[in-house]
Amino acid sequence: MQTHFTPEQLTDPGTARANEILRACVHCGFCTATCPTYQVLGDELDSPRGRIYLIKDMLENNRKPDKKTVKHIDRCLSCLACMTTCPSGVHYMHLVDHARAYIEENYDRPWSDRALRWVLAQVLPYPNRFRLALLGAKIMRPFVRFLPDPRLRAMIAMAPKMIPPVSRNDDPQTFPAQGKKMRVALMTGCAQKALNTDINDATIRLLTRLGAEVVVAEGASCCGALTHHMGKENESHAAAAKNIRAWVREMDRGLDAIVINTSGCGTTVKDYGHMFRNDPLAEDAARVSAIAMDVSEVLMKLDLPMGTSKETKVAYHAACSLQHGQQIKTYPKELLKKAGYTVLEPADSHLCCGSAGTYNLMQPEISGQLKTRKVDTLEALLPDIIAAGNIGCMMQIGSGTDVPIVHTVELLDWATGGPKPPALDSAGKSDIKVPILR
Ligand code: SF4
Ligand code: SF4
Repeated sequence: MQTHFTPEQLTDPGTARANEILRACVHCGFCTATCPTYQVLGDELDSPRGRIYLIKDMLENNRKPDKKTVKHIDRCLSCLACMTTCPSGVHYMHLVDHARAYIEENYDRPWSDRALRWVLAQVLPYPNRFRLALLGAKIMRPFVRFLPDPRLRAMIAMAPKMIPPVSRNDDPQTFPAQGKKMRVALMTGCAQKALNTDINDATIRLLTRLGAEVVVAEGASCCGALTHHMGKENESHAAAAKNIRAWVREMDRGLDAIVINTSGCGTTVKDYGHMFRNDPLAEDAARVSAIAMDVSEVLMKLDLPMGTSKETKVAYHAACSLQHGQQIKTYPKELLKKAGYTVLEPADSHLCCGSAGTYNLMQPEISGQLKTRKVDTLEALLPDIIAAGNIGCMMQIGSGTDVPIVHTVELLDWATGGPKPPALDSAGKSDIKVPILR
């Protein structure tokens, strides 16, 4: 694609990167075939190619973002299916991230949008505030139909019925390994600590059992993804900088990997090197990104025992951030199969479930349509359990089905000697069997 940025415009590193990306696009339109919003809405401007044109026009003309452009960029899930499909290697993620930051800086949103986005940015990344908000949502649940804004109704509906107690495993500390083979730092995250403490607990048990010493680094918390995807660069960079400093201190003591069990966060941490490329923290950020790994990548390096029974049927939901953002497509399935589960995949496994960070709260209608599709294809497999590697997908899909949904690591932990995932008992599925005969 031809671009017409002036030399002066290209002195801005964000614009220069956008120019590189735009020039790689050959407008072939292959990406439209796998774009969930194009499939749901059928509008070219809700396809990757359409959004690329809108972004090009906005940036080239130094134009204040208009309502139409913002609407179509806001409707993008950042699922990155388009990056997997694109034959020309267009880095849509960096382009849309830049567009979102540009919009945040130059567009006057209606006050209700600004207020909602401010609340989300001030609550979700902070586990204690988020817990309080979840409690508030629980109290508001009986009155949900009286709320005027569908986004507020979506927030209340998404809140879990049970709020788990705080897990002390999320505090800074070191968990010794059984027969130490490696030392890793676990990113315990932010929203996940308020929504589901079973995932980090299972990850720590599983990794230490398989020989990885696990450290929860002092000072590390939210990765910044939630605010990053809202274009709030100051907030996202501040959160990321804290993590970088915390993990670099641990790297100086010897660290083989930074383990992330929330794939949405993993995609962002792996991109810290790019986010901080013009910052004094550039070198440290690149070091952190270089050893950031999804938990499935680390588990592939450890010796997971073989399971024996194939009785338990697991429908695996591939989170977009894992399959498209990090291009990790086979590891979770290989691990589940090795542990003894029968793994099934839905027909539309490349498509987003509509969760996408805060998307299900800000675009509830499109998100709801994607959820219904995804739940239908998963339930059609008649699974005992649904597994996913991202808390956002778990909340989204879990709110639309009675089939219990757990994190992949919870099933691997159970198969190798850990407790049964609590979600199975609370879903009344006490008859599901652990695949390894112990
Ligand atoms: S598939 Fe790639 S090159 Fe083709 S239109 Fe989409 S982004 Fe552009
Ligand atoms: S990130 Fe997803 S929703 Fe956005 S343009 Fe690409 S495929 Fe479509």
